[in-house]
Amino acid sequence: MNCYVPVIGLEIHIQLALKHKMFAPENFHFGAIPNTLTSAISLAHPGTLPTVNKKAVDYAICLGLACGSKITHENYFARKNYFYTDLPKGYQITQDKTPICVGGHINYSLNGEDKVLNLIRIHMEEDAGKMVYDNVSSDVRIDFNRAGVALLEIVTEPEIRSSDEAYAFLHELRRIVRYLGICDGNMENGSLRCDTNISVMSKDSEEYGQRVEVKNINSMSNVKMAIECEIARQIQLLQSGKIVEPETRAFDAVTGDTKHMRKKETTTDYRYFVEPDIPCLFVSDEWIDNIKSHLPLLPQVYKKKLIEEYHLSEYVASVLIEDKSILMFYESLCSKISDYITVANWVIGPIKGKLNEMKLTVDELPVSTQQIADLIGAVLNNTISYSIASQDVLGYLVEHPECSVQEVIKTLDVIQDCDRDYIEKLTFGVLDEYKNKVIEYRNGKKGLLGLFIGEVMKRSKGKASPKIVNEVVLKCINTD
Ligand code: ADP
Ligand code: MG
Repeated sequence: MNCYVPVIGLEIHIQLALKHKMFAPENFHFGAIPNTLTSAISLAHPGTLPTVNKKAVDYAICLGLACGSKITHENYFARKNYFYTDLPKGYQITQDKTPICVGGHINYSLNGEDKVLNLIRIHMEEDAGKMVYDNVSSDVRIDFNRAGVALLEIVTEPEIRSSDEAYAFLHELRRIVRYLGICDGNMENGSLRCDTNISVMSKDSEEYGQRVEVKNINSMSNVKMAIECEIARQIQLLQSGKIVEPETRAFDAVTGDTKHMRKKETTTDYRYFVEPDIPCLFVSDEWIDNIKSHLPLLPQVYKKKLIEEYHLSEYVASVLIEDKSILMFYESLCSKISDYITVANWVIGPIKGKLNEMKLTVDELPVSTQQIADLIGAVLNNTISYSIASQDVLGYLVEHPECSVQEVIKTLDVIQDCDRDYIEKLTFGVLDEYKNKVIEYRNGKKGLLGLFIGEVMKRSKGKASPKIVNEVVLKCINTD
């Protein structure tokens, strides 16, 4: 195994989050009744003409700019001819010689290490229909709803050397397209699909081995599994003196194995030619600049900002950027409270916890950002303790979002007691009752501190300020 190096390149299709198809005006949405979202254009009836969806071009430029690709000015579409049941036209409209984005790269991180993967190209194309296998009748049905839906294909250089790198890269790409708002990145619904090209070469070789394409992978973890399984299969072939055949294999999610699908067609088989029904699409500098001026911050750039400007730890920053809506929620809290670290700990702690418990996204949280800001503020100004705030008050607030934080604090009667004299009195009572423990503490059993603090808190019915209790107990126990 160690004598071989895997070489992996990915071809990723993302379905653009658009109302209309790539070259036709009808809508598409996942899960619609089969064959209800089609048109004469998508089915290529004679006499119909495709027109380019400009919004799809915007999205392609947007991704290209985010990846630092060169944007092509003169774009031609091409027909890729092949016969397949789910392809109503007998060809797919794609881009061949003039992909809209050339080159570029994506930065990602793997186990805290910064990595870069270069891209070969990103081009626009239309999707094919979908074959639906009916397990009961063993019929194969065709749904043309998806035919004509706008896609971008992202082709990477064969620079990936392990399944972990492929996984981490794909994760980052998904996050980027979600941040840009151009694709929902949902692999299970097929909005993001990843075909893998895999070869292995011996460690001292200068030349790549024969590649095999593995398709039909429907989840992030299956990408990892498919790659590992294909690497192992190729190494075994080579070790037993056999050769790796050029082919396309399909990943089987049930067995976790790959199976032969078809022999690899050569490029010339597709008989590409320029699509005669679509004139050259010219992308001007103004068009590009306009999109550039609206480009949102990308996850890795945001992470840097959180670490450098907000002084968050690498870990906290990584958790916050994971989900764009959580990050936006955090940002809007930060516009109200300037203690960014405390706010971050609230978001990744009690708030994420509450969302998980209620199975809600942050956008569905019934409580407003202002209420959460008031809640955090009430802890910062010592009105209530953190534990009361993050459990009792937050819990009550999500059940009664119509209440203000002040009202909830009053209703629950949880105003924190900061009266030092009162806390001191409680502390002396506790130290008096636990005389023996106090001696043990003074003889070095420092872990007993928690017991005294806990007792004082209990006697204040949880209302004493934990910070002041801590200070008072330490002071009283160390002085006689
Ligand atoms: P095709 O059009 O046949 O799919 P491309 O030239 O577009 O071929 O390459 C497709 C993918 O194959 C790219 O992602 C590239 O990185 C990858 N690739 C090319 N050569 C190899 C190889 N020897 N091993 C693994 N992947 C490879
Ligand atoms: Mg290709």
